[in-house]
Amino acid sequence: MSLKTDYSKGVGIFGGTFDPVHIGHLRTSVELRKILGLSEIRLIPNANPPHRIQPEATAKHRLAMLKLALENEPGLVADDRELRREGLSYTLDTLAEIRAEIGAETPLCLCIGMDSLVNLNQWHRWRELTDLAHIVAAARPGWHLPQGGEVLEFIHAHRVTDKEQLQGQPAGKILIRELTLLPVSATGIRQALQRGESIRYLVPDKVIDYIRQHQLYSD
Ligand code: ATP
Repeated sequence: MSLKTDYSKGVGIFGGTFDPVHIGHLRTSVELRKILGLSEIRLIPNANPPHRIQPEATAKHRLAMLKLALENEPGLVADDRELRREGLSYTLDTLAEIRAEIGAETPLCLCIGMDSLVNLNQWHRWRELTDLAHIVAAARPGWHLPQGGEVLEFIHAHRVTDKEQLQGQPAGKILIRELTLLPVSATGIRQALQRGESIRYLVPDKVIDYIRQHQLYSD
């Protein structure tokens, strides 16, 4: 018997390299799920990030650490579809696949940082992203919009200021939501490990054990 997941309140997706996953990713996902009232948020490790240098840990290790971090948090799910896909990973392809799974009517929210929103025009076929999903940008207090240009115009054309406006429709809106983002980065964690420093309380204990066991991030 297969139990069908109820996605009716909507699905969020949160992509990243997760090299390694840390409390910044986890806390933001928990808060966004609650704020947006979503059925689940899928954290999707990126295989071949088109925009940046390649991750340090293998895809297998990054996924294993993410799964350990999400073990006790129903509503946050590790989704390995981009690791299974051949070639470059484009968010648009991921959105299309998830849209096919959850149906045309279910709200789908692409959760990104404000820095990513500002550079949205660097994404593959970026204007089509809102055909398939809403975009929710997590902004640090003191955030501001770009001064001008095509991204600003795009934001103005799609922007809503109230989360309720995302719930009545499956896609097409942009919400900028202020969150207190924890000052943690995977780069900082990798550097601390290379210096032999503790990363306790920045990363879940089980992930720390995994890093130790597999001797990751230490030269
Ligand atoms: P790196 O330092 O290797 O660039 P990172 O810590 O920024 O990594 P990523 O895996 O690249 O993490 O980021 C995935 C997503 O998480 C991105 O949308 C990014 O904006 C967001 N993010 C990164 N750090 C934080 C944080 N401290 N709080 C909330 N979100 C974060």
